[in-house]
Amino acid sequence: MITILGAGVAGLCVATTLAERGLQVQVVDNGPADGGASWLAGGMLAPYVEGETAAPEVARLGASAADWWAARVPGVMRRGSLVVAPARDRAELERFAARTTGHRRLDTEATATLEPDLAGRFTSALFYADEAHLDPRTALRALADGLRQRGVAIRSNTRLDPEQADIDCRGIAARADLPGLRAVRGEMLMLHCPSVTLTRPIRLLHPRFPVYVVPRGHGLYMIGATMLESDDPGPITLRSAMELMSAAFTLHPGFAEAAIVETGSGLRPAFADNVPRIVKLGGRWHLNGLYRHGFLTAPALAEQLADQFALATQETALAH
Ligand SMILES: Cc1cc2nc3c(=O)[nH]c(=O)nc-3n(C[C@H](O)[C@H](O)[C@H](O)COP(=O)(O)OP(=O)(O)OC[C@H]3O[C@@H](n4cnc5c(N)ncnc54)[C@H](O)[C@@H]3O)c2cc1C
Repeated sequence: MITILGAGVAGLCVATTLAERGLQVQVVDNGPADGGASWLAGGMLAPYVEGETAAPEVARLGASAADWWAARVPGVMRRGSLVVAPARDRAELERFAARTTGHRRLDTEATATLEPDLAGRFTSALFYADEAHLDPRTALRALADGLRQRGVAIRSNTRLDPEQADIDCRGIAARADLPGLRAVRGEMLMLHCPSVTLTRPIRLLHPRFPVYVVPRGHGLYMIGATMLESDDPGPITLRSAMELMSAAFTLHPGFAEAAIVETGSGLRPAFADNVPRIVKLGGRWHLNGLYRHGFLTAPALAEQLADQFALATQETALAH
């Protein structure tokens, strides 16, 4: 029996991959099923847009993410994503275009054709047609359900000595064991605003951090996310809430009437280069440092970890 610690996106993707290969696994998490950074994510599968700041490795890992998720969970939306900037930040849009690939430029009319509620609001936009998004909570629940159907036990609120685990996906909680792992705090809001209709993730270029709106359906929108070098797990600050709300309002003034149905903050686990890693320390494998790309990169990383795990198991068997 292979024991995986952590039921965030990393742990559940690894468990799914190993179970699909016929291995016996169990997942143990010391928190509730709705804890961890994964529960708060935007769910954007955006290898091109993220390429603005991410290492090329992240885009490579994320290239097949939408297919992996679509084969296993409901609600993967392949509607692309849009990047816009207010007229005064036009130079930001040019800079963003120069630093990314996979987009085409839209004028006012073409932007309004894609998202009628943005009609007349932005003179220029970048459209990344091959990107996708999902609802992280739906996806995590569906992976967990799929695992249970295969007979895999997922134990929440259960303590286990990490030394007894085979695979460690504890996110930021593993930092004492992983030199260089740090927290990047991300704050978010959930708005209910049925009077605004947006159908794909829209990123608004902002001088301090990239702000985005991700539609969840039924008038719900996730607004994210701050990027703070902080390991404070506390609630969202007034300043961050104001910045996120102001960005939503800039995108569409109809958000002024939104109900704020949830606020949250999560700690993204990241290494110095913000590239995720699979490492074996002592007898335990770690998958960690998924930073702001957990849903984008976990599927490919889980397959890589499963390959390495199988190879190591074969080598051990041969050595005996
Ligand atoms: C606001 C926000 C927006 C984001 N948006 C996106 C996005 O749009 N697209 C994207 O790809 N990524 C996004 N991310 C990043 C993504 O959420 C993270 O990369 C991902 O959640 C990291 O997953 P993880 O499984 O490593 O960690 P976590 O999700 O934190 O999971 C770790 C799990 O380990 C458990 N645990 C801790 N200690 C123990 C222990 N001792 N024993 C057992 N279990 C333990 C925790 O309870 C938790 O369930 C976002 C993150 C944030 C915060």
